[in-house]
Amino acid sequence: MAKVICVLYPDPVTGYPTSYARDEIPSLSRYPDGQTLPTPEGIDFKPGTLLGSVSGELGLRAYLERAGHTLVVTSDKDSPGCAFENELPDADVVISQPFWPAYLTAERIARAPKLKLAVTAGIGSDHVDLRAAIDRGITVAEVTYCNSISVAEHAVMQILALVRNYLPSYGWVVKGGWNIADCVERAYDLEGMNVGTVAAGRIGVAVLKRLKPFDVKLHYTDKHRLPDAVEKELGLTYHPSVESLVRVCDVISIHCPLHPETEHLFNDDLLGKMKRGSYIVNTARAKICDRDAIVRALESGQLAGYAGDVWFPQPAPPDHPWRTMPHHGMTPHVSGTSLSAQARYAAGVREILECWFAGRPIRKEYLIVEGGKLAGVGAHSYTA
Ligand code: NDP
Repeated sequence: MAKVICVLYPDPVTGYPTSYARDEIPSLSRYPDGQTLPTPEGIDFKPGTLLGSVSGELGLRAYLERAGHTLVVTSDKDSPGCAFENELPDADVVISQPFWPAYLTAERIARAPKLKLAVTAGIGSDHVDLRAAIDRGITVAEVTYCNSISVAEHAVMQILALVRNYLPSYGWVVKGGWNIADCVERAYDLEGMNVGTVAAGRIGVAVLKRLKPFDVKLHYTDKHRLPDAVEKELGLTYHPSVESLVRVCDVISIHCPLHPETEHLFNDDLLGKMKRGSYIVNTARAKICDRDAIVRALESGQLAGYAGDVWFPQPAPPDHPWRTMPHHGMTPHVSGTSLSAQARYAAGVREILECWFAGRPIRKEYLIVEGGKLAGVGAHSYTA
């Protein structure tokens, strides 16, 4: 029987919810590219409830305990001697979400001799040392597509919030003001602007599609060009380099994975090549941007705004400079963990566990590492 550790974010400060804003979430059967949603044999949770926090347990307890496995759930994951580290030595499976990542470093993997499976409840397994997982023969899997549209919606929301100066205007209302000039002195229309995405994968394309009706000029860069028909349908201009993209764009939305090629891509040098007063929204990974270069660019006016939901480390410390830099619209890492997304990735984790325990293959599109090498989606997106 297996021991499963599930690292989840803490419950709401007001306690685990007993009722919800809505009674149901829409039921979907396929993602935009035709991939089917998770198909576990069963679920023990109500879609639309809070599953990603400690008391939600990703809806896994009944299923795992019925099968005789042990489930340990904790949010205590970072400090030396934390609950996660204490439970690791005899763990077979670790499950963690990118929003509250259980960093599986090489040192921690070395202290977990029984560990065979690391599941990301979401997308993006860069919190796992993939080299160490490969060397140890640990399988790494994630729930591909489960929250891609959730993230795309968040990115579009933040683009509009920055350009239209939404958050400061809302702030004036809450303060009891009616300060129209204060609200609009930094407010513009998105219409007519040049908007570009760094990468046009699942999320990047979904953002471009959602922006088309705003009558903007759309641009993108990616390692591989999209099919001609997609470029035509969306009216896209392709840029072979990120430099060429940022020179013409007013708004940049970042959607590439974090790997050595993209780490600190947005540094002083690249930010200096952007138009003065550009906006950046980064819902990909924080380290794609140089933390202090972003602060400098906002302070100098080179950037008119920065938003996103990804930080390093996570949770961000109280004195992280992005909390207090000017003209930002940051949220915690929440875009991919709406209640709608949670229902999909909880079902996806259940599907992965059902396959794992039954000795059936995990869907190829969920695999990052298997059999001592990058596999499935991981072989395409990651470098060891
Ligand atoms: P995909 O794998 O579908 O797309 C990633 C795209 O990035 C691919 O088209 C890839 O190109 C491209 N790419 C890779 N390297 C570069 C580069 N150096 N320059 C330009 N393009 C590059 O991933 P998703 O769209 O599903 O997700 C993107 C990222 O978003 C994830 O890696 C993750 O970090 C983040 N994410 C964030 C979430 C959140 O909650 N904030 C939730 C989910 C994901 P090609 O395939 O042609 O090689």
